[in-house]
Amino acid sequence: MTVIYCAACGKEFEPRPQILNQAYCSAPECQRERHRIWQKKKRQTDPKYRQDDADCNRDWASDHPSYWQKYRTDHPDYTERNRKLQRERNLKTKRAPIANENVSIRDISLQSGRYWLVPIDSDGIAKVDAWIVEITVISAGCNPLTRADE
Ligand SMILES: [Zn+2]
Repeated sequence: MTVIYCAACGKEFEPRPQILNQAYCSAPECQRERHRIWQKKKRQTDPKYRQDDADCNRDWASDHPSYWQKYRTDHPDYTERNRKLQRERNLKTKRAPIANENVSIRDISLQSGRYWLVPIDSDGIAKVDAWIVEITVISAGCNPLTRADE
């Protein structure tokens, strides 16, 4: 009888002969860990899987619009941790601000199309609610107004 140690819980278990190179015991939490690791690797290496997964999650979220709002209310520690990590990510990206009063109107090169409009707070953290807006450029190519012309 061969006994090996579970890669998740570290406990001894007897591998099933039907499963080649079994690394996880049959405990539900260890099987969830095995699946979580498999899924993480699959998302990193398989673009189609990643896209399908994202589509599925988006569809589910649109069918359950209050789920994440309730989750954040019920889990304030999670919410605060997430905000802190997002602030840190925002500092790392060093992106140009999305809206700035000093941006010249001449710098805007917008094409007609549909856009996500996502409200952000003062920390640059995107809020839950997002709108899809359609913007139609009706006067491309003309000289734009400057602030002095207004
Ligand atoms: Zn285990």
